[in-house]
Amino acid sequence: MKKNELKSLISWILIFFLIFLFIRGLRELQVEKEIPYSEFKILLKEGRISEVRIKSDIIFGKYSDEQNKIVQFKTYRVLEDTKLIDELENKNVKFAAVGDKGSWIWSVLLNFGPVLLIFLLWYLWTKQLQSGGKQAMMFGKSRARLYVGKNKSDVTFKDVAGCDEVKEELQEIIEFLKDPKKFQRLGGKIPKGVLLYGPPGTGKTLLAKAVAGEAGVPFFSASGSEFVEMFVGVGASRVRDLFEQGRRYAPCLLFIDELDAVGRHRFAGIGGGHDEREQTLNQLLVELDGFDTKEGVILIGATNRPDVLDPALLRPGRFDRHIVVPVPDIKGREEILKVHSRKVKLSDDINLSIIAQRTPGFVGADIANLVNEAALLAARKNKNAVDMSDFDEAIEKVMAGPARKSRVISEREKKIIAYHESGHALVAKLTPGCDPVHKISLIPRGPALGYTLQLPAEDKYIISKQELLNKISVLLGGRTAEKIIFNDFTTGAQNDLSKATEIATKMVTEYGMSEKIGPLTLRKREEEIFLGRDYLTREKMYSEATAKLIDEEIKDIIEKCEQSVEKLLSENIKKLHSLAQRIIEKEVLESQEIDEIIANN
Ligand code: ADP
Ligand code: MG
Ligand code: ZN
Repeated sequence: MKKNELKSLISWILIFFLIFLFIRGLRELQVEKEIPYSEFKILLKEGRISEVRIKSDIIFGKYSDEQNKIVQFKTYRVLEDTKLIDELENKNVKFAAVGDKGSWIWSVLLNFGPVLLIFLLWYLWTKQLQSGGKQAMMFGKSRARLYVGKNKSDVTFKDVAGCDEVKEELQEIIEFLKDPKKFQRLGGKIPKGVLLYGPPGTGKTLLAKAVAGEAGVPFFSASGSEFVEMFVGVGASRVRDLFEQGRRYAPCLLFIDELDAVGRHRFAGIGGGHDEREQTLNQLLVELDGFDTKEGVILIGATNRPDVLDPALLRPGRFDRHIVVPVPDIKGREEILKVHSRKVKLSDDINLSIIAQRTPGFVGADIANLVNEAALLAARKNKNAVDMSDFDEAIEKVMAGPARKSRVISEREKKIIAYHESGHALVAKLTPGCDPVHKISLIPRGPALGYTLQLPAEDKYIISKQELLNKISVLLGGRTAEKIIFNDFTTGAQNDLSKATEIATKMVTEYGMSEKIGPLTLRKREEEIFLGRDYLTREKMYSEATAKLIDEEIKDIIEKCEQSVEKLLSENIKKLHSLAQRIIEKEVLESQEIDEIIANN
């Protein structure tokens, strides 16, 4: 290193001098026209010299030529010509002497200034190139961080709360990593890849670290986006490098966070795939196929968007174990609050279960943020401990935060959703022949804010008209409950309505279940309709009058159902209230509890 520096210093000095000489040469070339002293004397006599600067042996100056153009000149002085000054005075020429010293400083400045500047710029530029070069050399290396030895993951399952099922599922992998031989002896197969998915902030990254921490094995953590680079082939070689390193450290855990960044569905989107990403994904698939759990390497991926992943990634032998990391329920939130408030000094009035109640829709990351905000608020007020009022203020602050607004649910929204879901459930329970209600939940899931889970008692291949009407009624139950209780509608019922309308439309146009229209199929089956083409190829098979009739019949079916649902719910309003009340308290109700509430009210 030292030698190199010396070398480069010498070459720098050389370059410096070359430039210096070059610029000097340029200066010699430029500007003044050199004339013989005799010509200068003639010009002086003719009165064409306007001004001169006299140095010890050179005269610089200006004269006007035949065309009256000003020309700069210089001439070497003949020192024996002592009468020069008198002649200059006679001709009224402006003249001055130029000191040797001054001109030397000037010339140094003029010569060295630009050179120094160029030197500096050049230096900075090459320096940047050099560091860029170093990065270029690192291109193919994986940037995964390695947690091993002193640096190993110190997160354990104690730090993750509110997702006991997930922990249980991961337990098997921890056992395997602790003692791979034990499992191989019996010939059991351990999943190669585990995919953790769930909304952002639910603790997927944390869980992966905890698995490594629990098993006490080295842990490589990379993010999917690190594999996506501008240059084709770089991502792929990084993937290769990651797996190579994994094999070297086995048994160990490789973790790829934000897997969707590399694992996006190929050919997704119009205009074809993305070459680099496709190569990277292919390399990932190859590596996944190529390594064997015998080597003791397990891969964990995490994503919020399992829906965009390439199906090839999810096939057996790749990421074949899928674990949902859910949004925590009220109990889970309390557990997470406990974890995060361990490091915070709490006052005696704190009741974590009340805080959990007030934070529907919060995920782990929100709760971590909440506890931190509360602690900061208390500190700002110079309190000795964080109390309930700090938490209240912090809840508001976190809820109002723009990023979370879409997910976090306010008290009032929670009430509306509770009645809406109770409406669905109650109609389903009270109408004979409906599918049993398994669960009501206020935990947001996908686009729905809450949901009522109905599972058919057995597989069905044909459905009767009454069953379809029941389905429509259950779908309308949510909206009708909102109408009865709040005398208002919300946008939350849009999905229900479109489903109900779809069923009614099919009843009329496909299943021949309308008396006025009769047993006709008036629409091609849905499956034959392909993308935009249905506008072009679907012939209209009925007249305008029939179209009007169809619309009326659909409307009729929906309205009749709505009336009966409204009657049903109004008659059982007490049940509706207690059901909704209970959901607000518990957020999740199982089938048995729902039955009890309905029976007791
Ligand atoms: P994800 O990867 O799912 O987006 P993270 O694992 O990055 O979420 O979570 C961010 C932070 O939120 C964690 O560092 C942790 O402090 C907190 N957190 C999230 N989920 C939990 C949980 N289940 N228990 C405790 N803390 C959690
Ligand atoms: Mg994460
Ligand atoms: Zn609904």
